[in-house]
Amino acid sequence: MKNICSWENCKEIGEYKAPVERDNSRNFRYYCLEHIKIFNKNWNYFSNMSEDEIEFFIKSDLTWHKPTKSFSSSENFFKILWNNTLEDKISIFKNSNFKDFKKSRLSEKDRQALEVLGLNYGVKWADIQKKFKGLVKKYHPDKNQGNKKYEDILKKITLAYSQLKLTVSKEK
Ligand SMILES: [Zn+2]
Repeated sequence: MKNICSWENCKEIGEYKAPVERDNSRNFRYYCLEHIKIFNKNWNYFSNMSEDEIEFFIKSDLTWHKPTKSFSSSENFFKILWNNTLEDKISIFKNSNFKDFKKSRLSEKDRQALEVLGLNYGVKWADIQKKFKGLVKKYHPDKNQGNKKYEDILKKITLAYSQLKLTVSKEK
């Protein structure tokens, strides 16, 4: 008995075996040459992606633009991956949603530090330095007749800056 390609609406003979799930190679499905190629391409889909990208991809509204889809089954999961690769949705990482998503991955400490400096979450290290220098000038005791209040603010700002120096300055 010959297997028919498992691809939807494909009537070709399924000569090529493919595992059903990533971590379960006991179950197989069969595809024709054309569709095994697409399958293999998608099987490796995540291998070139960073963890951030994978997480974003999974959570992305763009991934789920067809309503009421969830990872209820691995089959569904790969179906969505296929659709997205075929439509080259990889460009989603270039849009601003992904940048926003990355911002939201800051630690609580980093967030607090950015708030102290009055900066947005997505800010670049160079901008943090610039802002810090400006604030130091503004709150420096020499400029405020040694006012204790400003000294405390300056201390807070310096601590926030030091925190970000440990994290944001090391980001690529
Ligand atoms: Zn096929």
